[in-house]
Amino acid sequence: MRKLADSWDRFVDGARVAADSIADAAGDIYQRGRRYVNTKRIEAQLKDSYALLGKLHYQRELEAKTDDPEISKLVDAIGRLRDELRRAGEQKQSYEFAACKACGLMISKDSKFCHGCGAKTGE
Ligand SMILES: [Zn+2]
Repeated sequence: MRKLADSWDRFVDGARVAADSIADAAGDIYQRGRRYVNTKRIEAQLKDSYALLGKLHYQRELEAKTDDPEISKLVDAIGRLRDELRRAGEQKQSYEFAACKACGLMISKDSKFCHGCGAKTGE
C-alpha cells in the first residue's frame, strides 16, 4: 500500500509540474499575444497618421499646386481613384436584389436564373 501511495504522489507531482509548465506556456502565449496586439495597434495608428498627413497634403495640393512631379502624379492617381469609387458606388446603388421565388436566396434582379437553385426568375 505504501508503494501505491508513493507512486500516486509521484503522479500528482508530475501532473503539477506539467500543469505549471502549461500555465507558463499559456502565460507566454498570452504575453506574446498582447505584444502582438499592441504592435498591431501602434502600426495601425501610424498608418492612420500617415494617411491623415497624406490627405492633408492632398487637400493643400489641390488648393495650391506645387511643381513636384512625384506629388502631381499621386494627386492625379487619387483623383482617378475617387472618380472610380464614385462610379462604383453609383453602380452598387442601382444593383437591386430580390428573393428567389423557389428557394428564397437573394439574387440580382437582372439575373435570369437563380444561382442557388437554378429556377427561372421574374415569373
Ligand atoms: Zn433559387
